[in-house]
Amino acid sequence: MRTVIYPGSFDPLTNGHLDLIQRVVKLFDHVIVAVARNEGKNPLFSLAERLELVRVAIKSMPKVSADAFDGLLMDYVEKQGGQAVIRGLRAVSDFEFEFQLALMNRKLNERIETIFMMPKDTYTFLSSRVIKEIARLGGDVSAFVPPHVREALTSKVTAK
Ligand code: ADP
Repeated sequence: MRTVIYPGSFDPLTNGHLDLIQRVVKLFDHVIVAVARNEGKNPLFSLAERLELVRVAIKSMPKVSADAFDGLLMDYVEKQGGQAVIRGLRAVSDFEFEFQLALMNRKLNERIETIFMMPKDTYTFLSSRVIKEIARLGGDVSAFVPPHVREALTSKVTAK
């Protein structure tokens, strides 16, 4: 059984994240979307909310599950029996940070590979940060996130 972990903040999940999940699911038996607690990043959605938004989005994908994690990613991957981690590369700007992270993770655990994937070209400009900003300013995010995420964003920003 080949298991890959897709870690991230997913604050909130976007169509870019989903695009990557749909690509990697073709290569592995099991994909675990691992939602990081990341309190330091001051997320808009709580960990439970972010996890639930992922769960709803992957409901019809039998090979994909979602989980929350805290602490060192490599420890989590080991515990789950994963062989690899997947990360997305949107632009050159992602590269430097991701390169450093991947090599550091390799130092921590030689056995686990980091795989980079590119999203569909129309999603290369998409990030959770930009989506939150558009929603805050009252813009339409329906082309960039699934409908349930759009609803959650609308109620979150109007409640603030
Ligand atoms: P993190 O805080 O770990 O960067 P994110 O939820 O922002 O968490 O991203 C998780 C992963 O998904 C990262 O590898 C990021 O590069 C990737 N990612 C985010 N948005 C996209 C997108 N539009 N296309 C491809 N990959 C993406």
